[in-house]
Amino acid sequence: MVRIQKNISLKNLSNYRIGGPASFFAEVKNPEELSQVLKDRKKLENPKIFVLGEGTNVLFKDSGFDGLVIKNKINGIKILDDRESKSSSFAKASKDKQRVKGSESQRVKVGAGVLLEDLLAFCIENSLSGFQWAGGLPGTLGGAVRGNAGAFGGEIKDNIIEVESLDSSTLEIKKRSVNQCKFGYRTSVFKSQKESEFKRVRESKSQSEKESESKRAAGQEIIISATLSLTKRNRDDIASKIQEKIDYRNLKHPLEYPNIGSIFKNIPVEKVPQKILKQLRDSIKNDPFPILPTAKLLAVASLKGKRQGGAMVSKKHPNFIINFNNATSEDVKTLIHKLKEIIKSKYGIELEEEISNLG
Ligand SMILES: Cc1cc2nc3c(=O)[nH]c(=O)nc-3n(C[C@H](O)[C@H](O)[C@H](O)COP(=O)(O)OP(=O)(O)OC[C@H]3O[C@@H](n4cnc5c(N)ncnc54)[C@H](O)[C@@H]3O)c2cc1C
Repeated sequence: MVRIQKNISLKNLSNYRIGGPASFFAEVKNPEELSQVLKDRKKLENPKIFVLGEGTNVLFKDSGFDGLVIKNKINGIKILDDRESKSSSFAKASKDKQRVKGSESQRVKVGAGVLLEDLLAFCIENSLSGFQWAGGLPGTLGGAVRGNAGAFGGEIKDNIIEVESLDSSTLEIKKRSVNQCKFGYRTSVFKSQKESEFKRVRESKSQSEKESESKRAAGQEIIISATLSLTKRNRDDIASKIQEKIDYRNLKHPLEYPNIGSIFKNIPVEKVPQKILKQLRDSIKNDPFPILPTAKLLAVASLKGKRQGGAMVSKKHPNFIINFNNATSEDVKTLIHKLKEIIKSKYGIELEEEISNLG
């Protein structure tokens, strides 16, 4: 039986160590507990909800969150056997595809609250290849699926067979194939649905319109598990590829300070003016398509080390804004705003945030 708690600080639940209290808070370890919390929520006048993974990609407001934060700790990692796989048509289609290619894959069902670090350890233990690109990527599987997390040329969509989610208002479980998840660059159907709801609420003219749009927005989908396609390979090779990525991150990222990863998405080359493209041609990367790294643009604009209160553009990796001295969410938001303005006026490029901003 999960208890909904009141007035819980979000600061230590965010990798940024920023944020005020949530009016209501509950932690769930399986889909049944999640359903129960969503039912109990109705007795509390149906507060809006926010699903939290590891908080590695979210900026909470200093004033907190007036609603129910559900910390997703839905666990479990299971290699599916043939019988279980056959119960899903998506899985069967994927298996047939793999047979044609000549390399039979293993299907692994993973709870959305599983830490990617634990999933990677499982992959090494069971000699499962295909997920090495995620070495050192923090957060939960649910957060990664929602934002189609990616690095080193890989993206979570490359591993997905199907995703299960729970509708927060009907409590129905939905299963989606990889195509139905509508994955794109750092996005998925789970993220775009939510963003268009926020937009509708924001654009509502009157307070009553805002409230009714807000209520309508309550039916969001909470990812509860995903089935991944992985392949049996040599364990030592898998472990060393993962370690390479971890070492790279330790070297390049400002992990010594609280942070939430890259603040802005990288810039697709077609959005970069020719003059800049010529100047920074050597920095173009193919990850997952031709992009100009935003970190490079921020560096050439001399924005490394730019400060606002306790927030600072990292000198090590300028697409990270670090909390170097008790930053507030206002510090971070103001700094983000300033960076966007400078880049827009200097280069005519509109930077787009990658993080979830609860402000
Ligand atoms: C040092 C560092 C490096 C990083 N490097 C990368 C990188 O290389 N590539 C990359 O893509 N990202 C990167 N990130 C960002 C982050 O790690 C990923 O986006 C991660 O997948 C977020 O997972 P989370 O559990 O922490 O999500 P949270 O931060 O808790 O939540 C992020 C968003 O996902 C939603 N969400 C979380 N769980 C669920 C769920 N079960 N159902 C529905 N919605 C959900 C939340 O509501 C929120 O909107 C980095 C972050 C850090 C701190």
